[in-house]
Amino acid sequence: MKIREMFKEKTVFSFEVFPPKKTSSIDTVYQMLEELEGLTPDFISVTFSAGGSGNSGLALDIASKIREDNKVEPVLHLPCINYSKEEILHVLSELDKRGIENILALRGDINPDIPPKNEFRYASDLISFIKERGDYDIAGACYPEVHIEAKDMVEDIRNLKKKVDAGVDHLITQLFFDNEAFYKFREKTQIAGIEVPIEAGIMPVMSKSQIERMVSMCGASLPSKFVKIMQRYEHNPEALRDAGIAYAIDQIVDLLANGVDGIHLYTMNNPYVAKKIAGAVQNLF
Ligand code: FAD
Repeated sequence: MKIREMFKEKTVFSFEVFPPKKTSSIDTVYQMLEELEGLTPDFISVTFSAGGSGNSGLALDIASKIREDNKVEPVLHLPCINYSKEEILHVLSELDKRGIENILALRGDINPDIPPKNEFRYASDLISFIKERGDYDIAGACYPEVHIEAKDMVEDIRNLKKKVDAGVDHLITQLFFDNEAFYKFREKTQIAGIEVPIEAGIMPVMSKSQIERMVSMCGASLPSKFVKIMQRYEHNPEALRDAGIAYAIDQIVDLLANGVDGIHLYTMNNPYVAKKIAGAVQNLF
């Protein structure tokens, strides 16, 4: 089923998982997926390396497993900056063989150690390319607190509009901890004439180092309520995890009450956290 059809019927709830790092086995991810069985997200998306870490084949296998064993619709992330048109065509033919019709089309982060292939410059180039090759459901990424390379919000939203006009069916946001930032962004997209559903990306805090890494990568702002939690529990990992779960639930409840189109939970491949959050909010959708 195409994800765009789901948005017509309900507020969507989805999970994101990632393939194992080079040093661990794919079985660790399969075990995590088994632990997620019984939960009923509308889809599970699988991240895909923008090049370098060699986990792209694994992403396809994980997406197939989600479809066949979890009986949940998979979405394959597909970053294009370091791939050729031929390589993207190969991925599309693999998706066709496996009956997967949902793609999160991305540019990917620029890695200074990997020269870009320059066959796709922006995600919108990939989206136009995919659209010419079949009737896929295409999601795109968006940034409530501005993409790290964009000059400002105006420039970023203008570029987002171009991307949506190229053929995006729905959007998923970068993680954020401040719902007010999301509401302001949503209003600006509406003014810009962006009318596709926007899912809010929620990442539960699991450790101080995880948050420091994420914030340096994407520039998410940290509300004072959030900073106080981090300061109080930074040396107590279990308490920090539980406070992170409570904070994510609080964010989700507020977003649902404010009419969000969907919630995309960055599970961090942690079934305990995914189960706790899903258990607390699943009746609210
Ligand atoms: P684009 O939409 O191409 O935007 C990139 C930058 O270019 C922005 O600053 C934008 O304003 C600007 N821009 C866009 N179009 C134009 C234009 N026509 N003219 C001038 N400027 C333009 N990365 C991975 O490698 N693998 C993943 O699996 C992955 N999953 C992700 C999932 C989500 C939900 C999100 C939010 C991000 C994910 N990323 C992933 C990270 C993503 O690849 C990076 O954030 C990347 O830097 C931008 O990708 P994009 O698709 O948003 O790019």
